[in-house]
Formats: sequence, C-alpha cells, structure tokens
Amino acid sequence: MLKKTKALALLSGGLDSTLAVKLLLEQGITVEAMNFVSPFCLCGKGGCGAPQVARKLDIALKIFSVGKDYLNVVRRPKYGYGRNMNPCIDCRIFMLKKAKKYARETGASFICTGEVLDQRPMSQHFQTLKLIEEEAGLKGKILRPLSAKLLPQTAAEKKGLVERQKLLGISGRSRKKQISLANELNVVDYPCPAGGCLLTYREFADKLRDLFNHKKRVSLADVALLKVGRHFRFKNNKIIVGRNEAENKILPQKKLSSDYYFEVPDCGSPTTILQGAKTKQAIKQAAMLTAHYSDNKDPEVLVRYGKTSLDKSMRVPVPSQAEVNKLRIT
Ligand code: SF4
Repeated sequence: MLKKTKALALLSGGLDSTLAVKLLLEQGITVEAMNFVSPFCLCGKGGCGAPQVARKLDIALKIFSVGKDYLNVVRRPKYGYGRNMNPCIDCRIFMLKKAKKYARETGASFICTGEVLDQRPMSQHFQTLKLIEEEAGLKGKILRPLSAKLLPQTAAEKKGLVERQKLLGISGRSRKKQISLANELNVVDYPCPAGGCLLTYREFADKLRDLFNHKKRVSLADVALLKVGRHFRFKNNKIIVGRNEAENKILPQKKLSSDYYFEVPDCGSPTTILQGAKTKQAIKQAAMLTAHYSDNKDPEVLVRYGKTSLDKSMRVPVPSQAEVNKLRIT
C-alpha cells in the first residue's frame, strides 16, 4: 500500500500538464497545482485555462503572478534565448525555484510537470531537463509523469511514493499519444492546448528588445504597453499609435502624466502617445505619424496634442508609407 502523498504540479492549463496531474490523481496522490501568470502570457489574466482545469480535476490551485525578478531573467538569461526572446531554460528554472519554495510551505513531497522529453527544442532535451533540475536545486525531485519511463527514477519513485509502472514513456513532438490518453482518461475541453508565450513571437520580441536597449529600468507596465498599438522608435523617443478604438482609449490612460497624446480633429483618428524627451522634432514626428494613420487625406494635416487635454496644435506634412516604415519597430 502506497503512503498518502502530496505533489505540487505546475499546471499551465494545457493538455500535457492536465494529463500529468490526472495520472497522479489516478494513483491516489493528492495534487495541488501552481500556475504562473506573466505579462507575456497570451491567454490573458487569471491563469490561462488553469482555473477551469483545476476546478474540473477538483484540486487546489495557487496562481503566481511573476514580478520584476522575472523581467530580469528575460533581460539577461544565463542560458540564452530560443528562436526569439524566449529564455525557456532560465524561465523553467525560475518557475521551478518558486515551486520548490511553495512545495516546502505546503508540504508537497515532490514537484510534477507536464514536460515531455524532446517535445520542445530548447528546454526539453534530456540534458536540459537535467540541467534545469540541478539549477533549480531540485535534482531527482521533479517527476514528469508523461515521460517518466524514459528518465531516471526520481526520489519519489525510489521511495515508493509513486508507482513508476503506471507512468508513461512518451517523447517527441507528436501529440497523438496525449490526445488518445485524453480520451482514455476522459479529459475533455482542455482550454489552452498549446499554451502561448509572446516571447516566442518575432514581432513582440523586436519590441521588447528595443525596450531593453533603450530603457535601464523596465517595469511590468512598460511591458504591458508593448501589447498595445503600433510602436515606433525616433531616437530616444518611443511613439505608440493606437490601432483601434479600444487602444485609442487605453493609450492616454496608460501614458505617464508628463507624456503628450495626439489626435487629428474632426475625422477618424488614432490616438498616439509620445514617450521620452519632448523635443520639437519628437513632437513633430508623433504628430506626423498620427496624421498618417488618420482618415484626413490632405497633404498637410492639423494635429492636436497635449498632456491632459488637446490644448496645443501643429500643422504637419503627412509622411509616406516608406517614411513610416523606417521608424516602425519590428
Ligand atoms: S515559451 Fe515562454 S513561458 Fe514557456 S518556457 Fe519559454 S519563455 Fe517560459
């Protein structure tokens, strides 16, 4: 008879981590889940699909919102980036260190993840899994139920807390086995099948790289703004032009009180914000970009701007698409 054991599972809300938890529950192990929310998650606030999954599996869930320490990891990853600005190895180490601390607080005997050997190019090779464990101070303490039979026995298996023969030996990128296991275990409606991380997208990576290159102290609010509008770099100024009504509303709310915002009156117009020193040249560039994206098709356009209200104005030439493209970040 196995001892009653508690595990802490990293739950993304995707299929793999859901199945990993399910395999432990089937063994009678108590599972508490932990989900990480970062400003780079594509699923919005609230922990992707993890809350729904945790409710369905009837397990406790701790949502952990990453802070500025995570931005430092993204800015200077010890193990470098993947294809874009995704520091997957450092990111996993970061999450597992947090999980280790939480597992200690909650009395979990080991940590479980939905990782599948060789599924992801950067972080799921055999040697990398080993490295991540060691760097997180969790050598032999991370159970990956989907690939366990292809990996060395963990401490939990050696102690008899988990039955190794009931774990799996899945590897590689194909998801066929997981999908058939999902049917077998009656796991349906997994809400976030592949997960999503903005750091893996080239366009977003370009904007983040630009931000890091131009700003020493980057805040979570700075990162949040990267998701809104078209971004332009003019020397040390950043100019952000709204793409739709919702963004036009958000931008003036998110700007610093010292930043200007811009609009073209009496026609369809984006709202633009200008960050950085308010030089004459920078103000003119922001006004020109606003004019370019407005519905006013005159060669010269009047643009209004100001800090708290549009109390100033200037007439500017409308730049060509080629001129606009030169300033666009991405
Ligand atoms: S894809 Fe994003 S969230 Fe996932 S491990 Fe890589 S950096 Fe972290």
